[in-house]
Amino acid sequence: MKKAIYPGSFDPITYGHIDIINRASHYFDEVTVIVMNNKAKSPLFSAEERVKILQNVTKDFPNVKVDSFDGLLINYAKEKDIHISIRGLRAVTDFEYELQIAQTNYELSNGELDTMFLTTSLEYAYLSSSSVKEIASFHGDISKCVPPEVEKLVYEKFDRLDASLLQNSPNA
Ligand code: ADP
Repeated sequence: MKKAIYPGSFDPITYGHIDIINRASHYFDEVTVIVMNNKAKSPLFSAEERVKILQNVTKDFPNVKVDSFDGLLINYAKEKDIHISIRGLRAVTDFEYELQIAQTNYELSNGELDTMFLTTSLEYAYLSSSSVKEIASFHGDISKCVPPEVEKLVYEKFDRLDASLLQNSPNA
């Protein structure tokens, strides 16, 4: 059985990620999308929320599973006996960072975890989770970037953040 993992922050998942998941699901018998809990980042959605969102968005892909992990990817891969990690490449700017992660994973795992890159479909090349968050924080239109159910959750999150900022402001 050909298995792969697709790790990322997915904060939030965009149509770019979904495109990679969809394509990977054709090349592998089983793809596990892993929400990596990166302690250096302060995410908009908790890992539990992101797992739920991903489960909902990928429910129509029969061979796609969702999980989360708080640690080194090579340890997750070893535990599950998976040897391919999938990453998406949008532009040359992604390359240096992705190459470094891929080589680190390969070396740290003694060649047990290799990386396969899928280049993004051109229509999604401009999309990133951080630009989605920036646009939404100014109440801009993110409908071309994320599915409707994700759009709703992102706006709700920013509305709640705005409300708590107002409540805690010294002039409130
Ligand atoms: P990370 O914080 O680990 O980079 P992301 O959630 O931002 O996680 O991205 C996960 C993976 O998906 C990365 O390989 C990234 O390059 C890829 N990716 C992100 N946005 C897109 C997109 N629009 N098209 C294709 N791949 C993408």
